[in-house]
Amino acid sequence: LAQLFRPLDMLGMVYRTIRQGLIDMAEMFRLLDEPQEVADVPGAPALVIKRPSVVFDNVLFGYEKDRTILKGLSFEVPAGQNIAIVGPSGAGKSTIARLLFRFYDPWSGRILIDGQDIAQVTQTSLRAALGIVPQDSVLFNETIGYNIAYGRGDATQADVEAAAKGAALMPLIERLPQGFQTEVGERGLKLSGGEKQRVAIARTLVKNPPILLLDEATSALDTRTEQDILATLHRVSEDRTSLSIAHRLSTIADSDKILVLQDGQLAESGSHLELLRRDGLYAEMWARQAAEQEEFEEAAE
Ligand code: ADP
Ligand code: MG
Repeated sequence: LAQLFRPLDMLGMVYRTIRQGLIDMAEMFRLLDEPQEVADVPGAPALVIKRPSVVFDNVLFGYEKDRTILKGLSFEVPAGQNIAIVGPSGAGKSTIARLLFRFYDPWSGRILIDGQDIAQVTQTSLRAALGIVPQDSVLFNETIGYNIAYGRGDATQADVEAAAKGAALMPLIERLPQGFQTEVGERGLKLSGGEKQRVAIARTLVKNPPILLLDEATSALDTRTEQDILATLHRVSEDRTSLSIAHRLSTIADSDKILVLQDGQLAESGSHLELLRRDGLYAEMWARQAAEQEEFEEAAE
């Protein structure tokens, strides 16, 4: 019987995918402030996801023709795994995210999601499959409920509440006199950076995308809030395919795999322990960050 229903499920997913893409695209461009440089190929089908894996296959790319940024990059994120990308600033980490959203096309090589070349499917369906939790979340001057529901056009109040719970927002919402109906943003209630981040997570939970892209950049959050948010993100990405671009290594140490990017190439990859044992770039970055953390803690005492 399940066999019979699967195609119907899939149709539903494609439909939601298309709908969602329309709402999200504008926001994504605003958040990432990127130009739109690519077009759908004529008659492109929608991306259909059964097992959300991501593959970069020998990707060569640069923003200007005489400067190569990604130098034949290959890696795989198997469906359901959490993969982290770390590396020095300027290594090309954000470029990977931009290519995955197809803000640009590679010069050569391919990017596949569940075996489908992302350059061959509609951008709308592609972007609907990707959930992004940016480091700086932008809220609309609307109610907190609206801001969460924005993740999906047809979200019900139950969906919104479940997402708020998942993002650890309920303690805040229960304190508000008007609950989910409280206006937030510039004209309403001012939320802290951490609270805004959690609204963004809730929005992503409502959207329920098969693939998550997290940017955990060291933002101006206090340590406790950061711990809170990391725990939330952790739970959210646990059995989903996720790609975390991380600056602070302590936040990604338990990823299934860590890719160390240097100068547009994979310098090393492996688990946290494997990379420490290797005693290469990752081990060096880890030691440096541990020393910085110690200094910071001493200064705080
Ligand atoms: P990371 O996220 O690892 O710090 P990025 O992927 O943002 O690095 O950038 C990699 C390189 O590409 C950097 O040298 C950066 O200056 C360059 N770069 C990024 N965006 C653009 C752009 N829009 N035009 C030209 N060069 C860019
Ligand atoms: Mg970056």
